[in-house]
Amino acid sequence: MKILLYGATGTIGDSVFKIVKENQEKLRVVAATCNTNYKKLEKLKIKYNIEKLGINNHKSAEKYKSLYCTSNKKLVIGNENFLKLITSDIDVIILAISGLSALNISYDIAKSGKIFGLANKECIISIGPRLISLAKKNKTKIIPLDSEHNSIYRLLESNKKKFKSITITASGGPFFNKKLSYLRNVTPNQAIKHPIWKMGKKISVDSATMVNKALEIIEAKYLFDLSSDQINAIIHPESIVHAAINFNDNSSISLLNKPDMRIPISYLFNLNNNSKEKENIFQQLNRKSLTFHKISHNKFPAIRLAYKVLEIGGLAPHIFNYNNEVLVNLFLQKKIRFLDIVKYNEITLMKFLESNKNIFQPNLKDINNTSIWINKNIFLGKI
Ligand code: NDP
Ligand code: MG
Repeated sequence: MKILLYGATGTIGDSVFKIVKENQEKLRVVAATCNTNYKKLEKLKIKYNIEKLGINNHKSAEKYKSLYCTSNKKLVIGNENFLKLITSDIDVIILAISGLSALNISYDIAKSGKIFGLANKECIISIGPRLISLAKKNKTKIIPLDSEHNSIYRLLESNKKKFKSITITASGGPFFNKKLSYLRNVTPNQAIKHPIWKMGKKISVDSATMVNKALEIIEAKYLFDLSSDQINAIIHPESIVHAAINFNDNSSISLLNKPDMRIPISYLFNLNNNSKEKENIFQQLNRKSLTFHKISHNKFPAIRLAYKVLEIGGLAPHIFNYNNEVLVNLFLQKKIRFLDIVKYNEITLMKFLESNKNIFQPNLKDINNTSIWINKNIFLGKI
């Protein structure tokens, strides 16, 4: 199986390479990209014999060329040219670039007719309906890698029965047990220390604010064509049950697995027997409890906002998503406070809707124009 890996130098990329290392006879990464971390990309290239590379950041690409003098055929520079890496011999394309910078690439992958391993959640949230119809039209098979959605995808593959709703779980992030007053003063360093998952900075902050779960509620709506009242979220700190399908008779089914991104990624590669663990999940869970808790909307208003965003529809998911990306960056630079991330997001969303017409079924141009408006008008309190 030949793999094109966008975002190879991140934490999802690390999980992909761990699997590839153990399955070298079946899997090969033939092309891989990064934004600035060209040194890590070069190490990966040598270790895994990768044929073609992509570097988004132009300065980093120049440094790369001067250090390793690669021919132009083997190096693609700038996201806008990453499409060139989609060649006919590739079987699976993984999108593990973080954030909305991957928007155009997500379109290109949806058009490719390949198997599309979707880790990036931001693109599907901003332009979900179009991305999904594009994939359908071009026979591109989207397999979600986000653990909750991957669970639902697998459950739906094996159960064709009509269901009532789905439940996705949240670990609760680093502040699940903290009081609201504590959240006022948390620092970026505290927010990026996730108790369960090792992830990039942006998604770690999203987990701490619960915006990650809010984004995942929207992601689930688009991926599985659900109405918002069919999706609910609960906190499950042990992160063993990632999601469930709930039937009309009030029975539910779910998949149990350790919180390890290698599980959804192995599923993408159709690898059945690559686990070396001797004990099954129930034996591993011996004497451990699985707990579930309601999400406090007071402490985590992002969840309430997700449903409001779905109700408004049109551009609202993109506005919520893009605002969040801008605000998380400002929080990481210590320019705004933790609780301001969701607060300013909602204020900006309402401000947008007061002064602009909402567009239903927005296209890429509408999305980009909205981002430009947000860059100029985002509410940032007094800074
Ligand atoms: P990381 O921040 O660890 O990695 C991001 C990757 O994208 C890196 O390769 C980075 O390159 C590249 N990248 C960043 N910005 C750009 C850009 N502007 N143009 C091109 N490439 C860029 O993120 P994660 O691996 O944790 O997450 C990746 C995606 O997967 C996110 O959308 C996240 O929401 C989603 N996801 C992640 C999970 C996880 O467990 N990590 C779980 C579920 C979903 P460089 O190294 O050079 O900066
Ligand atoms: Mg997830």
